[in-house]
Amino acid sequence: MAGCTGTSLEEHAPTGDSADALGLTPQIVNGVTPEQALQVGGESVAFTELVEQVSGVDVCVCFQCGKCASGCPVSYAGDYTPTQLIHAVQLGLRDQVLRSKTIWLCSSCQICTTRCPQDVDVAGVINAVRIIAQRAQVSPSVSSVPTFFRKSVSNIALFGRMYELGLMADFKVSSRRFSEDLGLGSRMLRKGKFSLLPSFRGSRAARRIIRRSRAIERTS
Ligand code: SF4
Ligand code: SF4
Repeated sequence: MAGCTGTSLEEHAPTGDSADALGLTPQIVNGVTPEQALQVGGESVAFTELVEQVSGVDVCVCFQCGKCASGCPVSYAGDYTPTQLIHAVQLGLRDQVLRSKTIWLCSSCQICTTRCPQDVDVAGVINAVRIIAQRAQVSPSVSSVPTFFRKSVSNIALFGRMYELGLMADFKVSSRRFSEDLGLGSRMLRKGKFSLLPSFRGSRAARRIIRRSRAIERTS
């Protein structure tokens, strides 16, 4: 798949007064002007292609309608809306994308993906960007989230299914957030949302799946 920069964006995007009049001026923030964004070289195009290859999504077909952002429940909390993030990927803004808070605050609810009139799997793109950020060892802007993901996988590998109490204990020790959400945890326990003891049902199969995925990761 070809990157978008130098092809569809430059050829088809309205420019100058007409872009302003239509309100289509790219909304890239954090000090990067649209002109700077368009002055991209091979590295930026390679980033767009990398995201497309990892996600299997053609980000170039996004026409910035904003439907993904308007439905996103965590849009208010990130530094980019999903629409802006996809645009940044189109433009090959590697650092802005990999260092954004948005990629870690996304809850993978899939609302953006289901709303997109162009069938852009926005949630899939965000997931791919997380993987790329971790492989490139880019320090995450919200460090607790990748820690939580890693602890979740270890928890499932150990117990065969999620043992929430064990996960929370493990997470709290590593994040040193001992008192945070204690009230919520005890309310959930009272309502039977999680149990005191783990279940080991299916643990061997789960362990096998995780072992195989890790082996694939090592060889890819
Ligand atoms: S809904 Fe789809 S086309 Fe619209 S801005 Fe989001 S990704 Fe782009
Ligand atoms: S998957 Fe992520 S980006 Fe998409 S709507 Fe849900 S929280 Fe927002």
